[in-house]
Amino acid sequence: MMCGLHATKFYGPVYIGKVARVDTTRNVDFTVNDVHFEPDLRRGFSDPEVTPEWLYEAARINYSYAGSLSTFREVMNRQDDDSDDSDDSDDSDENDENETEDDTYDGNDNDKKDNQAPQQPPSAQPTKKTLCLQCRNPSNFLCSHCSGVYFCSASCKASSWSHFCLCPTWKKYTARRAPLSSFPSLDFSPLTTSSPFTTSDQPYRDFLKSLKLYRRGWWSVELDGWAGGLSGSAKDVDCTIRSTFSEGFCFENEEDLGDIGKPFPSSSPPLPPLNSWGDYYALRNIPPTSPAALLLHFPLTMYEGLMKYAEPQREVSKMLNKPLNIHIVGVEKELNFLDMFKELFLLFSPSNLALNLTFVVRGDMLPARCRSGFTFPHDTPTTKNSITVVSGTYNDSLDPNFDCGGKPDVVFAMNAGIYAYESWRFVVEYLEKSGCLGIFTDYNEYSGLNCASLGGRKCRDSLSVNPFRQPLALPVYSMNLPQFANGFFYVFNEQDME
Ligand SMILES: [Zn+2]
Ligand SMILES: [Zn+2]
Repeated sequence: MMCGLHATKFYGPVYIGKVARVDTTRNVDFTVNDVHFEPDLRRGFSDPEVTPEWLYEAARINYSYAGSLSTFREVMNRQDDDSDDSDDSDDSDENDENETEDDTYDGNDNDKKDNQAPQQPPSAQPTKKTLCLQCRNPSNFLCSHCSGVYFCSASCKASSWSHFCLCPTWKKYTARRAPLSSFPSLDFSPLTTSSPFTTSDQPYRDFLKSLKLYRRGWWSVELDGWAGGLSGSAKDVDCTIRSTFSEGFCFENEEDLGDIGKPFPSSSPPLPPLNSWGDYYALRNIPPTSPAALLLHFPLTMYEGLMKYAEPQREVSKMLNKPLNIHIVGVEKELNFLDMFKELFLLFSPSNLALNLTFVVRGDMLPARCRSGFTFPHDTPTTKNSITVVSGTYNDSLDPNFDCGGKPDVVFAMNAGIYAYESWRFVVEYLEKSGCLGIFTDYNEYSGLNCASLGGRKCRDSLSVNPFRQPLALPVYSMNLPQFANGFFYVFNEQDME
């Protein structure tokens, strides 16, 4: 049994498996000192009391190893990122029918045809095809047991013995696709979580085009991502420009906006608990046909995180009559719709809680004329809420306790992927040292579990589904796990209410 030896393939997870070829026809059985467990550390041990601490330690140690590999990978791939400046015509071949031209493997376990993987070198263009786990060549054939990864040939499948140690766990992850894709109150969600959306971004592009939202207002970075501010759509974003909700959402049909952005009456009692998109849509009179949730998952995820995990911090702020100080780190596409976070202010206004939101952003992601950061002026002289953008990164150019609007009560990071990037180490170290509450989200359960392991067992155990995840199945090309923006929460230093 060994840990961390396969970070190259999996980009950083702790890997636990037997150092031997695994007989894939039988269920994998791990036993240590007569205790049976599965590779999913969170759920697998039959007796949680005997989970050895060294497994959690191994996760931390493996982090630096994964971070170095990730930095190396990033440097090697930088040119590819630059070419992400795509328009419609560039994308037209995304779903071309040649995808499996070289593949004759039918994904069947019993298929003993020893097809060699195609030998041509990988394309220099960024690929948007599903890829074989073993050789990274295009493949459409899913692992017949877990449906979580692709293999292009029987030989690749046979060589990837490491996958078979994780396969039973991945089967559990993929089995949760249906409940994760369920948004009963959103009329468009059966389409936006359907299987074509999981292997290409073209269906989402078509969907936004059909609503005349593609590349407009706050939707403009929905498709090409952010890519460190270099993607085609991100380049044009000027985060200092203010937008109203109507300008940001650009709905053809104004009704789709409901009451989003409208203040509650000053006498309004604290809001009833919001447990789903249905609750929020009802509160704001938004019709179930409105696609607003596809963007609003950012402020609503913050609302959910603060309601669920930050009660002690909220109560102290209210007692001291001062705004809750929140640092939002690892910020990227959030920059395109800073004004949308005003909905978060409004949702907390009936409970008399004000928020200082400080977005901590790497300087090179900001428009040239505001590289040193900026603060949005308050909308009304009486409000204590604020939105500030600070230029820099934790412990590199910024001291979190002094340079970002004061010591944070909460550090928030959305879609963070802290396991894959070395730069997150400073945030993790800060949380470890300060004991500050850290609320994170991740795209998929596998990544979330690995990231959460950096905060120790309690953090790992905190992994949970976010009811305000984006109602959109995100395409994934290197695997086939259910993936949603702001899909899963995990929490560092959660305190119990005394
Ligand atoms: Zn292959
Ligand atoms: Zn599998």
